[in-house]
This record gives sequence, C-alpha cells and structure tokens, in this order.
Amino acid sequence: MSHILPELPYFHDALEPYFDAQTMEIHHGKHHQTYVDKLNAALKDNDSLQKLDVEQLLRNLAEVPDSIRTAVRNHGGGHYNHSFFWPTLKKDVAAAGPVVDEIGKEFGSFDEFKEKFTNSATLLFGSGWAWLVFNEGKLEIVATPNQDSPLSQGKVPLLGLDVWEHAYYLKYQNRRPDYIAAFFNVINWEKINENFEKARS
Ligand code: MN
Repeated sequence: MSHILPELPYFHDALEPYFDAQTMEIHHGKHHQTYVDKLNAALKDNDSLQKLDVEQLLRNLAEVPDSIRTAVRNHGGGHYNHSFFWPTLKKDVAAAGPVVDEIGKEFGSFDEFKEKFTNSATLLFGSGWAWLVFNEGKLEIVATPNQDSPLSQGKVPLLGLDVWEHAYYLKYQNRRPDYIAAFFNVINWEKINENFEKARS
C-alpha cells in the first residue's frame, strides 16, 4: 500500500483572510506531499509495514526497524498530522457542542482553555504542534516537537495546530501569536465534536 496525499476538503482560499490561499497551496501541495513521498520512500523495502495505515505505524513506532524508525516518525507523523489538520479547519463554525461543554468543565471556561492552548503553542520552541487530546478519559493540552504525533504517546488528538513557520510565515512572518489568534477563527468545531465522540465511545 502506498500512502497518498488526501485532497483538501475546500478551496485554497476558503480560510481567507485568516489562513491565506498561497500558504494553503504550498503547505498542502508541497510540504504535505513531501511527507507522503518520504514516508513511501522509507517503507519501500518493507512489505509488512506497507500493509499498515499511518495511524498503526505511529501507534507502534517501537516495532519499526531502527534503520527507518526516525524517517517513519518524522514523515509518517508529518503525513498523519497534516491529514488530521485539514478537515479541522473551517470558517464560521460556532464553538459549541459536547466537546466545548467538556472544555468548559476541564479548563474552567472556554477563555481559560483558549489562553492555555495559546500559551502552549506560543511557547513551543522551534517547530511542532499544539494539541487538545483525549487521554485516559479526559481532555489535555499537549505540545509535540517536530512532527511527533500524540498517537505515538497513546493519546487521541481532537484538535491540533501546526506551528511550524511554513504554516504561517508568508502571511504572518515571525508573528506566531497573530497566527494562533487567527486559528481560533477557523476551527471546525463540528469536526472537533466528531473527533471527541469517536474518542470517548
Ligand atoms: Mn505543516
């Protein structure tokens, strides 16, 4: 089985003005494609690992041979994280539903969650992701370096933000906090609720 780039579920300009069309085009078409290509290259001589989907690979990194484990972790993580990310983005979706109720219970209020998530994404040194995950029955905010996926720590991602510079540099240059603030306008809460219902069932 060869891994393939999923199509974006919207046009490149669908998230304007928060996420600009040119960034979306390069981010999906070039960066994500490269993770897919390099994952396939890493797996090319391993028939048994080729039978696994990317989630299975990331949940069982310890079983991947040493010689390709770093490549699978980085490029498999890149492929999975971006495939997860695209459908969680949509404009004009109200922050509502079971996951938002649970956020209120876990973090005190939605604003407190927003502040905590923003801090996590802002303070992450270098490249990586900030996440809302479901872990052992509760919500947590975590950050992962590089393309590490929460799946490899046994956690289920519900919401994630790519804070690599390639995700925001064209529009926001070095202003990561502005990009993080913009992200809160393009969260597809319907999808996050779907992720939450699946994770807790
Ligand atoms: Mn990215």
